[in-house]
Amino acid sequence: MNYVFELGERPSVAIHNSEDRYPVRRIYCVGRNYAEHAREMGKDPDRDPPFFFQKPADAVVPNGADVPYPPRTENYHHEIELVIAIGNGGSNISLEQAEDHIYGYAIGNDLTRRDLQLDARAQGRPWDTGKGFDHSAAIGAIYPVSENGHIREGEIWIKVDGQIKQQADIRDLIWDVPEIVVELSTLFELQPGDLIYTGTPAGVAAVERGQTMEGYIAGLETLTNKVV
Ligand code: MN
Repeated sequence: MNYVFELGERPSVAIHNSEDRYPVRRIYCVGRNYAEHAREMGKDPDRDPPFFFQKPADAVVPNGADVPYPPRTENYHHEIELVIAIGNGGSNISLEQAEDHIYGYAIGNDLTRRDLQLDARAQGRPWDTGKGFDHSAAIGAIYPVSENGHIREGEIWIKVDGQIKQQADIRDLIWDVPEIVVELSTLFELQPGDLIYTGTPAGVAAVERGQTMEGYIAGLETLTNKVV
């Protein structure tokens, strides 16, 4: 097939201890999946269950890369999150089989233009400008389940210029990892190459140019990105 012009390379993510790359098809994200974060966003986690939104696949930013401060915002936030990488697709996946669909796990930072997101929320509009902008999906290397197993618990935190901002445990997720796969697969047919950002703990805060974000999840590499 001849295209009228060439696009750039397919977006992809590093794989831990490998030269191979994980190709990215879609990026799904879970909103309000830690109770304390739902409360800090002004919502009741008992009344408003988590939900999904998407970012474009080419929003991925690798570990160690600078992230440009995005345009049209004055309130640019970090959100440290566990990321699921799908390896086998499917629809209406059962809870018992959910783990079989997971290729691996990574640490991610769901970068957010909070002012645009909250404006959209208040006006009943889509979140795309607040969430789905360029360079908004920082992500570390994917750790394959075949080598490192599944992640169900463990410390998660992010520091900005050495100061702790968010700190929790993966076991605090409202929808845990298998439940997220099950729920998402009732809405979309999952495919290999789909990433799922699983939600962020309380403590989201603004970052400025020149600041360095350092994220941690037990068992994964540290995710470091400087805002420029
Ligand atoms: Mn998030």
